[in-house]
Amino acid sequence: MNFADSEIVNSILLEDGMTVAKDAESADVILVNTCSIRENAETKVWNRLKEFRSLKKTNSELTVGVLGCMAERIKDKIIEEEHLVDIVVGPDAYRDIPRLLAEVEDGRKAVNVLLSLEETYADIAPVRTTGNGVSSFVSIMRGCDNMCSFCVVPFTRGRERSRPLESILKEIRQLSDEGYKEVTLLGQNVNSYKDGENTFTTLMDAASMINPEIRFRFSSPHPKDFPDDLLHLIAERPNLCNYIHIPAQAGSDSMLERMRRPYTREQYLSLVQKMREIIPGVSLSTDIIAGFCGETEEEHYGTMSLMKEVGYDLAYMFAYSERERTLAYRKFEDDVPEDIKKRRLSEIISQQMNIQKKRNLTEVGKHHLVLVEGTSKRSDEQMSGRTDTNKIVVFDRMDFEKGDYVEVEITDTTSATLIARPIRKTTITEYYGAAVEA
Ligand code: SF4
Repeated sequence: MNFADSEIVNSILLEDGMTVAKDAESADVILVNTCSIRENAETKVWNRLKEFRSLKKTNSELTVGVLGCMAERIKDKIIEEEHLVDIVVGPDAYRDIPRLLAEVEDGRKAVNVLLSLEETYADIAPVRTTGNGVSSFVSIMRGCDNMCSFCVVPFTRGRERSRPLESILKEIRQLSDEGYKEVTLLGQNVNSYKDGENTFTTLMDAASMINPEIRFRFSSPHPKDFPDDLLHLIAERPNLCNYIHIPAQAGSDSMLERMRRPYTREQYLSLVQKMREIIPGVSLSTDIIAGFCGETEEEHYGTMSLMKEVGYDLAYMFAYSERERTLAYRKFEDDVPEDIKKRRLSEIISQQMNIQKKRNLTEVGKHHLVLVEGTSKRSDEQMSGRTDTNKIVVFDRMDFEKGDYVEVEITDTTSATLIARPIRKTTITEYYGAAVEA
């Protein structure tokens, strides 16, 4: 989401006549787009801001700003106490950056962290200066109304609002014209996308018809209201990836209730079963929190057993860190000692690594269609890309290029990466057409 937001800010600044500096040392303005989801993310930002403050010693004209969720959360501390930044801009105020920069030029500190009920930046065409030129993110909605008890997002990003369908489709057409091959649609809870009669399924349907050679992914849906018609659409459209990120957070009913996640373990498992029945071979990933308020050993093992039962292909696993303003902060105690949180998290991670390794071993001998994202990090002689099921694959470079679709046969694996033998350059239409005939 922050990558997508930075691309919107790029667009606003370029429109205002600014240009992109080649590094921080040569910049007149440095804006740090921030995340508040965990304490660790915020610590990184503080450290980065301290580095930038030292640049001010050699460049007294330098303006440093904080954008995004952290800006909204700790605006006073950033400006008043720490004297680290000149400008603070919340996630709904990016259009105001040029005016705020002008205020700073007049010698004032500038802040706009007002949240909006309407802002979706629908009319701003993001300028993509980062990324690999093959895959891109498209924001379809902003904010969240779910109020999970641990989560600060509803407070930092405000109420949920959907971007008009036509503006999303226009952006995807533009990406198609620019040669992009993969689009990930983004929202805090994509299932609740709504533009008049249009639902998330209508949006996926229309988006996938724009160019059959563009793959689509999305993040994140909520388990409480995942639509069946979307599962059927994914099953029938070759360019809708057979990969779903479905955040569980925990595996016991008592914990889910404290987290204000309105589903039970049983309901979650039936959803997983339905996904696997409707989309055979679908790969699943999840988010897990270890050591949330009041977590007992039994609840911890409930999370472990859920993860084992589902057998996720990938999981994002973190120890709970308390966020101000949330329900958990106001009503519960962050009472699981740090050493126990750490131990539980490491048990969760090590179990997941074993599961991934086993799941990846079953891939050996199978064929996949891989979208090449670039050269492998380890060797220029190898290319790296992703399967439709979101697994990273590396294989010999030969004459393949970034953006090619390549059919590969998996020959070996680690817990994180598949090793493959490339077979041929192909297309989605050709590959799945052939697979259907076979
Ligand atoms: S669904 Fe829950 S966890 Fe996700 S952004 Fe909304 S409040 Fe946070």
